[in-house]
Amino acid sequence: MAQGVMTIAEQRDGEIRKVSYEVVSEGRRIADAMGQEVTALLLGSNVKDKASTLAHYGADKVLVADDPQLETYTTDAYVAVIADLVKANDPALLLLGASVQGKDLAARLAARLGVGMAQDCTVLSIEDGNLVAERPVYAGKAYAKVTFGENRPHMATARPNVMAMNEPDTSKAGEIVDAPVTLDAGELKTKVAEVLRDEGGKVDLTEADKIVSGGRGMKGPEHYQILEDLADAIGASVGASRSAVDAGWRPHSDQVGQTGKVVSPNLYIACGISGAIQHLAGMSTSKVIVAINKDPDAPIFQKADYGVVDDLFSVVPALTEEVKKVM
Ligand SMILES: Cc1cc2nc3c(=O)[nH]c(=O)nc-3n(C[C@H](O)[C@H](O)[C@H](O)COP(=O)(O)OP(=O)(O)OC[C@H]3O[C@@H](n4cnc5c(N)ncnc54)[C@H](O)[C@@H]3O)c2cc1C
Repeated sequence: MAQGVMTIAEQRDGEIRKVSYEVVSEGRRIADAMGQEVTALLLGSNVKDKASTLAHYGADKVLVADDPQLETYTTDAYVAVIADLVKANDPALLLLGASVQGKDLAARLAARLGVGMAQDCTVLSIEDGNLVAERPVYAGKAYAKVTFGENRPHMATARPNVMAMNEPDTSKAGEIVDAPVTLDAGELKTKVAEVLRDEGGKVDLTEADKIVSGGRGMKGPEHYQILEDLADAIGASVGASRSAVDAGWRPHSDQVGQTGKVVSPNLYIACGISGAIQHLAGMSTSKVIVAINKDPDAPIFQKADYGVVDDLFSVVPALTEEVKKVM
């Protein structure tokens, strides 16, 4: 009978991503509720020395699939290895982060395993031993409760920055086990030729703890400097609405929303953004939302925890100055 919770960790350049710790932490809470164990899977090349950190966040056991062919993520190689390990270990639940990579991997993996899967969940719970997942639908206007059929594992991806991360306990070493990797290079359809990096050096929006975002109200690319200054002062990343991206003021990698990135920082400051439903779809699960907009009827104020009805070109620099005084 399927037993336990399995989580899949995500690494980039050998560094485990934050969402993986959130997923292990959530897996720990669910496993405790079921009286079962958590096994984390870590794939990559020369990553074994990072495995114990997953135990610090709650994994009882870490399976490490270490192989040069797994150094950079490709859907077909990762799905082939993980599907074999899932079948061999027969977990009741399988959890991943809803990052770009996690969502891609989960979709193909669910199809390969022939199981149901819920993407981008904000709440996971157990009812009668079965997974119940909540996820935003209709661009965040409503939440759907998803239940699963007979086939195991029940699978879900967790939206980054929503599930609480455990305090790491370095006394917990966990059991680190080498996992077999049987990959036939000839059968892999894709190969990574080159990785082009964003040279910005800022924390990726999906992992950012604080975001300062600008929309059409910024009136031009040159004015984003005031957002960069505020972001530097509070240690935030800078995002944008689609209008700003479509106008060519910001790169697409900065876009927050339905057709951009889904973010859930602790603090989201929306400057000159009206709050269209497609924008809200990408940021409405932020813990604290601050809106700066000169239109008191802008829909963003219905979502905001704090609102400033004023000209952003006077409010943002003043805010930056005040922050600098106290930080
Ligand atoms: C299929 C589809 C997908 C989409 N995906 C996305 C998406 O992923 N992300 C996204 O953002 N949008 C998306 N959109 C577009 C979305 O519908 C809105 O058009 C867009 O979000 C509006 O961007 P904005 O708020 O910057 O601009 P506007 O709606 O024009 O709002 C600008 C705001 O700035 C305020 N303002 C102006 N000057 C100042 C000032 N000096 N001080 C203070 N405030 C000021 C105005 O009062 C106004 O509220 C999508 C649309 C569709 C149809």
